[in-house]
Amino acid sequence: MEIDCIFCKIASGAMGVPPVYEDEEVFAFGDIAPVAPVHILIVPKRHIQSAHELTETDAALLGKMFSAARKIAGETGIDETGYRLATNIGPDGGQSVPHLHLHLIGGRKLKWEH
Ligand code: AMP
Repeated sequence: MEIDCIFCKIASGAMGVPPVYEDEEVFAFGDIAPVAPVHILIVPKRHIQSAHELTETDAALLGKMFSAARKIAGETGIDETGYRLATNIGPDGGQSVPHLHLHLIGGRKLKWEH
């Protein structure tokens, strides 16, 4: 756990943020500033700065993160209408929290914005 990382703290349970989904390696919780009716963040409990740090050795972890997304989409009822999974990398990619996270966004028609 990175001492100053807010998502490490949330994923450890120390902040009292309720999990939308949790297993040994993955924690998911609601985004504090949702951009759609469903906006969940899916993070690894282990600190990884961004998707740019991932290697083949993280394949199982990524499988768990995407599997969590599928489960959450089903539980929130957006699996039929569709949703977006996105991860931002670095300043130009729009990453504001330097701990890998998947945005699961849905519940309305999304535009593709650049
Ligand atoms: P990104 O800009 O891709 O790094 O996404 C970071 C996301 O984390 C943003 O959508 C923020 O609204 C969200 N966020 C930041 N701090 C918190 C927090 N304490 N709890 C929940 N979501 C947060």
